[in-house]
Amino acid sequence: MILLGSTGSIGVNTLEVAKKFGMNVEILVAGKNIELLNKQIKEHSPSIVIVSDKEDIAKVSHHCVYAGEKAIVDVIKDSSSELVVNALVGFLGLRPTLAALAAGKRVALANKESLVACGAFIDTSKIQPIDSEHFGLWYLLQERAIKKMIITASGGAFRDWDLNKLQNATLADTQKHPNWSMGQKITIDSATMVNKMFELLEARWLFGEGEYDAIIETKSLIHALIDFKDGSTTAHFAHASMQLPIAYALNKKMDENILAHVDLLKVGSLEFREILPERYPVWQIKNDLLKNPARGVVINAANEAAIELFIAKKIGFMDISKNIIKAYEKFTALPKNVEDVFLIDKDVRSFILQNKG
Ligand code: NDP
Repeated sequence: MILLGSTGSIGVNTLEVAKKFGMNVEILVAGKNIELLNKQIKEHSPSIVIVSDKEDIAKVSHHCVYAGEKAIVDVIKDSSSELVVNALVGFLGLRPTLAALAAGKRVALANKESLVACGAFIDTSKIQPIDSEHFGLWYLLQERAIKKMIITASGGAFRDWDLNKLQNATLADTQKHPNWSMGQKITIDSATMVNKMFELLEARWLFGEGEYDAIIETKSLIHALIDFKDGSTTAHFAHASMQLPIAYALNKKMDENILAHVDLLKVGSLEFREILPERYPVWQIKNDLLKNPARGVVINAANEAAIELFIAKKIGFMDISKNIIKAYEKFTALPKNVEDVFLIDKDVRSFILQNKG
């Protein structure tokens, strides 16, 4: 397989699962964490390695190293692997997803920004999502009439914070996720609830038109629920570990144990909460966005640009959501094709970066 984003949270977990299944890794792609990349090269002996910056090529312990986004797309086209695991973070992951699909490869997709921004133009039949919520929904699906698909949220770092303190929350505060550890960007997205909006959009592209919603389940043991028309509701329980969705994305025929079962007697009780716009302002546009999912490109670009400003301490935490809503109100045109997606992405980013909240 080809693994994009090998040094990230999903990438590291993917290599562990690949080792368990004895899978061959043809290409490793990483950003700037060369120390970890060199360890991975030693263990998995890829044929080709790619890093983000040319200056780092000499530091990589491999005879065949390239750098940059174009190199990623080129090696995907030329590779013999049937599977591409895309665990890159951000819009940067879109071109590799498109290249992999165009080359007829199966895509195990953690890079949710690909579907959020460009889902209208992506054939999802070749995609297996790497995410607990979509895995949970897929696991629950059966030949029965569905009323609603529901995914759960942890509520992120600020689910119990005083609302008045949110504007002054720091980057370090956003990273204190209550239930697990992930990459920096998705942990910010979890605190703003943008991550759950992204997952609803992904679900819409993966499972088709229908009713979708999300609720908070504070222990992150239930990942998805389906309300069937007959009045039954089923829920998918599993411990919060990405190894289960990754294992299925790499190897559909799974008959071995991946995780310990959830012991309900030890869990004792569960708590569910509504996602309220006072704490998570982006939730105001959730229903409209689900009716117009192709507008995900605007939300994604505004979010990435606003996060850039937040990390640079140019705007406060709650301004991330304000900027997203401002861009959503301004950019109303729907993309007509993939090229439009890239144009809209560029326009929205410069709008947010120039207006600085
Ligand atoms: P991380 O930030 O931990 O990892 C991102 C990876 O992308 C790293 O390997 C990083 O390299 C690499 N990267 C960044 N920029 C470049 C670049 N310019 N060129 C090449 N490689 C680059 O993110 P996560 O693993 O948390 O998330 C990855 C994706 O999966 C995101 O879209 C996220 O939303 C999604 N996801 C994550 C989940 C999780 O549990 N973490 C759950 C479900 C989905 P380096 O570190 O070497 O700089």
